[in-house]
Amino acid sequence: MGRNPIYTKVYNELRYKILSGDLPIGSLLPPERKLAVQLGVSRNTVVRAYTELEAEGLIAGKMGSGRYVEPLPPLTAFSRVDWGSQRYEYLHSSPSHMEELLSITDRYPDTINFAHGDGGRHTIFESGLIEHVKRAAERSPSYFFTSVQGLPELREHLIKWMGFAQISSPDQVCITSGSQEGLYLITTLLARQGDCIITEMPTYFGSLQLFQSLGMQIIPVPLDRDGMRIDVLEGILARSRPRFIYTVPTFHNPTGSTLSLVRRKQLLSISEKYGIPIVEDDAYRHLHLEKEVPPALKEMDIYGNVIYLNTFSKMLFPGLRIGWVAASRPFIQRMARLRELTISTSTLNQFALASFLQDGALRPHLDRVTRQYAKQAERMEAHLRPLRALGLDYEKPDGGFYFWISLPEGMKVRSLMQICHEAGVSITSGDMFLLREAEQPYIRLCYTHENIDQIDAGMSILTRILSHQKEVSR
Ligand code: PMP
Repeated sequence: MGRNPIYTKVYNELRYKILSGDLPIGSLLPPERKLAVQLGVSRNTVVRAYTELEAEGLIAGKMGSGRYVEPLPPLTAFSRVDWGSQRYEYLHSSPSHMEELLSITDRYPDTINFAHGDGGRHTIFESGLIEHVKRAAERSPSYFFTSVQGLPELREHLIKWMGFAQISSPDQVCITSGSQEGLYLITTLLARQGDCIITEMPTYFGSLQLFQSLGMQIIPVPLDRDGMRIDVLEGILARSRPRFIYTVPTFHNPTGSTLSLVRRKQLLSISEKYGIPIVEDDAYRHLHLEKEVPPALKEMDIYGNVIYLNTFSKMLFPGLRIGWVAASRPFIQRMARLRELTISTSTLNQFALASFLQDGALRPHLDRVTRQYAKQAERMEAHLRPLRALGLDYEKPDGGFYFWISLPEGMKVRSLMQICHEAGVSITSGDMFLLREAEQPYIRLCYTHENIDQIDAGMSILTRILSHQKEVSR
């Protein structure tokens, strides 16, 4: 044994956890024998550590019910930061849906995943991007930082890719760590706690979580198959002045609807009339299955009111963490200043992507994957069609990644989601796309993440569960 007996290690670790608040007051400590097995030490070692902590007054045993963390002794002995009740004023409470979804594969590693919104593993391997990552790693400049606004050559490629007459110079573009960061920066620049933001409802849960966490008031506007209801929007604007209108006009997440050309014109003229910026989140534009899509709002924007947001998370894969914002120069300059505060720029990925775009590899990749996605959507629909007899309803999407499905009356969607997780298939409950958890009839299924065989397997499980649920809810 060294100079410090082994029990001091156990004692120090527990003491740190208690003082730092990792083990809050009132927490039950594991029984001696169990902790000894967990730590691979003898029971005597644990007994000794517990005895020391008891002597210090940090823990106490209750007869027959184990040992608990005690309220802290008076300050004379020591003082500590109370992490539980710090003034975290910047962060307001909101449902943690992002974490709930992102951690599904940690909790259920073998799940058949209809919950995540991405193009599936093959987008890494079949896109050819890995080759460009290797090339980028061999280029010494990728070792260094680049401009916080993003690698200039990547911004040049993006201008060509977008093809919008309004965006012609790299100073109108800022690269971000995914569009989630883009939306965070935009919101931080344009609004502060208590301000109003308008958005479609339901909408992408990441935007809702962001606006709620920053203390914004969200004004919901319903949507139908032609996108946001502009008549309702006009009524709202007669009464309130939002800081901006956030919209996913093309293959909306989760409903799949696309704002019609007529409504695009109306939305722009409303923005012009009231001087309200539009934040256009265009993540799914290039992921259409059949028809071409209407022009982006940014493409039709005469006065520079539209802030355009896009990402490679859907066209390639989300782990790349590259998105971009295209807007007027003064706005992009402010964004770059804000971004400078965190230097959240991954240079290597930007070099790899610039080289991928330089090779003209994105278009053929998208042609290939969208052909594949069309087959996946067909297959999922083949499983969904017979379920109409149970009372399910949906519209086949023209693009994007999702089926938005209403379930028969009486089904408890949250508990259905849990049952599905446990049976080996993950789905998303529609309430994640609303302002608060509520009983509502929708689920969202992503058809692009899993291959055809997995879609067959997952949909068979789902069909079995839905048929059973329908029986019990009769
Ligand atoms: N916007 C929309 C509409 C989305 O669906 C998503 C991802 N689900 C994002 C933004 C966030 O994408 P990123 O990975 O680029 O942050």
